[in-house]
Amino acid sequence: MIERHVTVRVKEGLHARPATQFVKLAKTFVSDVQIRRGDKGANAKSSVKLMLLGLKEGEDVSLTAEGDDAPAALDALATFIETPEAGLDLGGTVPLATADERSSSFTPRREVLSGPGGVPASEGAAIGPAFGFFPEVLQAPNRVVATESIEAEIEMMRRALDATTASLIGSKLKDGVTPQDAQIIEALIEVARDAEMIGAVESVIRTGKDAVTATLQAGQDLAATFERVDNDYIRARAEDVRGVTRALALELLGKADANLGAVPEGAILVAEEISAWDFAKAPLQAIAGILCTKGAATSHVAIMARTHGIPAVLGSRADLAALRAAQVVALDGKTGEVWLDPNDTVATEIRERVAREARERDALDSYRQIIPVTRSGQAIEVAANLGSLKEIGPALKAGAMGVGLFRTELLFMERKVLPSEDEQAEIYAELARAFAPYPVIVRTLDIGGDKPVAGIEFPHEENPFLGWRGVRMCLDRPDVFKPQLKALLRAATHGNIKIMVPMVTNADEVLRVKALLAECRAELDAAGIPVGNPDLGIMMETPAAALLAADLAKHAAFFSIGTNDLTQYVMAADRLNPRVADLNRADHPAVLRAIELICDAARQQGIWVGICGEAAARPDLIPIFLRLGVKELSMSPASIPRAKKTVTEIELPGL
Ligand code: PEP
Ligand code: MG
Repeated sequence: MIERHVTVRVKEGLHARPATQFVKLAKTFVSDVQIRRGDKGANAKSSVKLMLLGLKEGEDVSLTAEGDDAPAALDALATFIETPEAGLDLGGTVPLATADERSSSFTPRREVLSGPGGVPASEGAAIGPAFGFFPEVLQAPNRVVATESIEAEIEMMRRALDATTASLIGSKLKDGVTPQDAQIIEALIEVARDAEMIGAVESVIRTGKDAVTATLQAGQDLAATFERVDNDYIRARAEDVRGVTRALALELLGKADANLGAVPEGAILVAEEISAWDFAKAPLQAIAGILCTKGAATSHVAIMARTHGIPAVLGSRADLAALRAAQVVALDGKTGEVWLDPNDTVATEIRERVAREARERDALDSYRQIIPVTRSGQAIEVAANLGSLKEIGPALKAGAMGVGLFRTELLFMERKVLPSEDEQAEIYAELARAFAPYPVIVRTLDIGGDKPVAGIEFPHEENPFLGWRGVRMCLDRPDVFKPQLKALLRAATHGNIKIMVPMVTNADEVLRVKALLAECRAELDAAGIPVGNPDLGIMMETPAAALLAADLAKHAAFFSIGTNDLTQYVMAADRLNPRVADLNRADHPAVLRAIELICDAARQQGIWVGICGEAAARPDLIPIFLRLGVKELSMSPASIPRAKKTVTEIELPGL
């Protein structure tokens, strides 16, 4: 047996997806591999056990392997554990929505205090005939198996398990299954094949219980263990375990479960709980809505409902008997409201909501890929705010005309060491290529004591938002700043890269950045490395910058207004403090006055100005911004179609 000590570097630890990938890798070796943290250990080939071990980023673990290929197994598994991105981009098993998908398609829980309402799990209103899905409760037969028949009982369980797995594989290959569905079904297949789960069932059979009883009991125990884990995502996996063990028990009993295959067109699926397993078998295009008394926003059924645009309310407080008796159900997956057998007024209101949402969706869809032009003929660039390469796909799909703000902080925060110049050059180049010929505006590192980064020592500050951050820190740390500037100069040969400097308060800072850029260029030239000639712009987000805009405009190719910080600094109202949220308003006259100063200065100096704070996506403010002369709006990808539509409806008198 050989042993290796490693530190978990996988981003956010070995949660569901990386755990499944890790197990897949472990299974490619014949050796027995165990992973331990302190006195707790798990078989590296069991994703169930591994998830329950809940290994977090930064924890020290030991890997032990025994078998012919033990050294190779340890090498591969240790490398996996020490790789921050491991398991995240490899087409893993459990899909996690991107930040933008989450914000667009999922509304956080809002308490509906009375009635049958519940957790808003997938946006949209729906009304239709109830289709009850209440599978029979399986009773454990509690049959005693004689010692000499135990092996045969285990053999029978294994055959049933093979049939269950085959049926899952069949549903994965069905028409209309999206890649996301397929990944979820794959997670179920993993559970069905999991050595720990099979082992748990076998051990119960060995105590002399029949296979059905053993399956139900082991499934219950394992599901309960998942439910005790202090992690919403892993807790929700209890549902997978219950789904798979139920399917196995039914297979053993030779019974078929209640069938979702017969859901009529336009029905609302009503249930206590729907497992991903059941849901995968349903004709998804027929389902108008989903209402369950169990489940929450991270349940697989919620993820699948969002993927397919099916409105859903889970964790409903509806009484089960009332739910079974309901003929018609109405719900709103955005608010969590539910009505059983709604009266005519409610039914009419919900039908109107359904029709309005359909119209809004259709209308917005056609705006995704257009170049928005105001009624007076000005073309406006609507770009995306991104923080990682993973968001490129959703941004392009939403119709992003380039990137108006690439926040580079994440690249630094997700690593244990500073990202190298080469690594950064590759990332910025990939962005440039993805959006060419549109611009990609990369903001240089904007970080302070509130978000520490490995490799940069931040002193304790009473108020980090007014402290050593953004360009202030970067100018003091050329060892951190120059590799980023060099990477940007190199990436500029691959597309339309622009550089933007955050937290500027005076022209001297910009001139010092320019001097550093010239130094970087000279060093790259001397080394024979090709460089581009990216524009340098200023992020306008401090009151000082707004007041000195006329001076700053002489030193910049463009301005981009960061309304998030500009608002908090102009209004002296912390953007993170809900108690002063009323003051933290981008539409306050003082903030709009600051924006006007910036736009006037830009116009006089002949440079363009954009907005990359949250306010850029607001349909009520876009007309004001365009009237002030703003030419580019940058926002979360999900907001792009609506912003494009708003632009096309604006008349700009006198322009
Ligand atoms: C801003 O301040 O408006 C902005 C876009 O940047 P961030 O939100 O990253 O501070
Ligand atoms: Mg800012």
